[in-house]
Amino acid sequence: MPTESDREISKLKRELSLYKQTFEQHKNIDKKYNEVVDKLKESKETLELKVQERTKDLKEKQRFLESIVNGIEDPVIVINKDYSINMMNRVVKDYIHEEHIKDKNSPKCYEVLQYRDAPCPLSFIDCPLKKIISTKESTKTLYCRVMYLDSPREIEAISSPLFDDENDCYGIIQVHRDITEHVQTRRDLEKQKNEFNYQAHFDTLTDLPNRLFFNEELLHTVKKSQRDKTKIALLFIDLDRFKEVNDTLGHACGDRVLQESALRIKKTLRANDTLFRLGGDEFTVIMENISNPEDASKLAQRIVVELENPMKIRHNTIYISSSIGISIYPDDALNTSDLIRYADSAMYKAKEDGRNNFKFYSSELGKKVTEKFDLEVSIRNALQNKEFVVYYQPQVEATTNRLLGVEALVRWMHPTLGLITPDKFIKIAEETGLVINIDDEVMHMAMEQISLWRHNNLNPGTLALNVSVKQLENKHFVQKLKETMKKFDCNPEYLEIEVTESNIMKKPQENIVKLNILHKLGIKIAVDDFGTGYSSLSYLKKFPISKLKIDQSFIRELPENEDDSAITKAVIALSESLHLQIIAEGVETKEQKDFLIQNSCPNIQGYYYSKPLSSKDMEAFLRKSSL
Ligand code: C2E
Ligand code: CA
Ligand code: CA
Repeated sequence: MPTESDREISKLKRELSLYKQTFEQHKNIDKKYNEVVDKLKESKETLELKVQERTKDLKEKQRFLESIVNGIEDPVIVINKDYSINMMNRVVKDYIHEEHIKDKNSPKCYEVLQYRDAPCPLSFIDCPLKKIISTKESTKTLYCRVMYLDSPREIEAISSPLFDDENDCYGIIQVHRDITEHVQTRRDLEKQKNEFNYQAHFDTLTDLPNRLFFNEELLHTVKKSQRDKTKIALLFIDLDRFKEVNDTLGHACGDRVLQESALRIKKTLRANDTLFRLGGDEFTVIMENISNPEDASKLAQRIVVELENPMKIRHNTIYISSSIGISIYPDDALNTSDLIRYADSAMYKAKEDGRNNFKFYSSELGKKVTEKFDLEVSIRNALQNKEFVVYYQPQVEATTNRLLGVEALVRWMHPTLGLITPDKFIKIAEETGLVINIDDEVMHMAMEQISLWRHNNLNPGTLALNVSVKQLENKHFVQKLKETMKKFDCNPEYLEIEVTESNIMKKPQENIVKLNILHKLGIKIAVDDFGTGYSSLSYLKKFPISKLKIDQSFIRELPENEDDSAITKAVIALSESLHLQIIAEGVETKEQKDFLIQNSCPNIQGYYYSKPLSSKDMEAFLRKSSL
């Protein structure tokens, strides 16, 4: 049996063992602690050593940089990432204008540098260095004006990013170079080059581009026209009696004639034409983008007229004239040398042909253009000589044989060729604008005639006048019409204006306005040649029209031709639904007339009733029908 003391001993033993254990543990912890402390001490020392080394390193680097920067004779600035100036060499420091710098201890680069094309003073936002810092790329050259110089100079700044050991950009080094002289020299050279270029490309007497320029320009224009598929006209102009002027009146006078000729030719040109002086009394014109060869003949004609007018030079009145040759790209030739050769040879033909005129290289083209030109001149003469007369064609209500009205149709009483119908001249009259004068004449003569008939108790019904689109667009047309109506006491209800469908549909918006003015005057409007002009039905409703004239091409083969009879019926139905009157023109046979009556179109104009009649014959017709 263990005694009390035994138990005590074993308890003490247990406690002792526990103490031992704890003691061992503590010893371990202490050891570990010491180890950690030792390690920490060690790393602190290493770190301190490293910091020391790094600081030394940085200082060394900074000193190194400083020595480099100060060693450079050009201005150098080192800029930190925050745009403050880290370092400047003496060249910069000595000249900085301090008043520009806000914080003297930490000046910002943009207070010191003023970049070309940048607002002054520069702000951080538009500082070009920002880009270098973000891209870390060694930069291109920057040009700037810098504040360390009194007067603005051209400065070239070469900026490179500075990298630390971790390859991070910590700033920029910028070396400046004054390139003012260099820039000036370059500018001088450029100026000289321009002057040289001018002298090489321009004729000093007339200030016109010269032969060299002409050759370059023609080549360029031909290439362009090839690309754009457009036409060019080349005009060769030669003064006819220039040599005589030079020989008799002297070179000074000859020079003045050349200058005056250049001015006169220039006056005639369009925006797309260029005049050159090749030398002597030879000029050329390149006409770019012409719509047809007539553009060239019109210009040539204007030049001929300009140059045949006498020139007053000093006390002399000088008469010169010009001969012009024309070649056309691509019709005559595809390359510049042929175009030049052809225009030149055409010019000689013009000279052979008596001078003071123009000739096309292509005889075919020349013939056509000349014919047209001659016709234009003849129309002008015909207008002056009052060779145009009016014929009248009756319009009849076939069911009652009642005369509804007459259409006025122009005829040309040519003194040698006899009566000429409008198909031979109206197209050219339209192209040249002479149709306006013809329409004026017809309007005047027809209203006078109608008023005379009415005065003599003859009733011709409505007078239908053909009005070309040129006349309709003419700003004086309405006024002229009103004046003529007043002069001949012509009531608007007896008047009808015929406008072709294709013409009104060309500019529907403008024509609606014009036709509305006529409509408000009480004048009726008929759409001529209906069915041939692709009317938009929605527009048709908007026009203030009162009548459709079915085109004769649909009547010709009635009633056999099924298509034509279908179209004719459709046009009649359309006129009914739009509440428009209808008339058929070109009716020649009884079958055609019967077909039209059956299909509710009793109004008829055509040879079946009568051809267009002279005023004398029309008067006889009126007398007969009034019986
Ligand atoms: P248009 O206005 O369509 O005139 C009708 C044409 O058809 C006239 O030709 C007329 O003679 C012809 N014609 C009439 N009935 C018949 C027929 O039964 N059979 C045939 N085959 N033809 C017939 P014209 O007089 O030669 O006029 C031709 C065109 O010239 C006219 O066509 C009109 O557009 C224009 N025109 C005529 N006079 C003038 C005018 O004073 N001013 C304007 N701007 N143009 C006019
Ligand atoms: Ca007509
Ligand atoms: Ca017609």
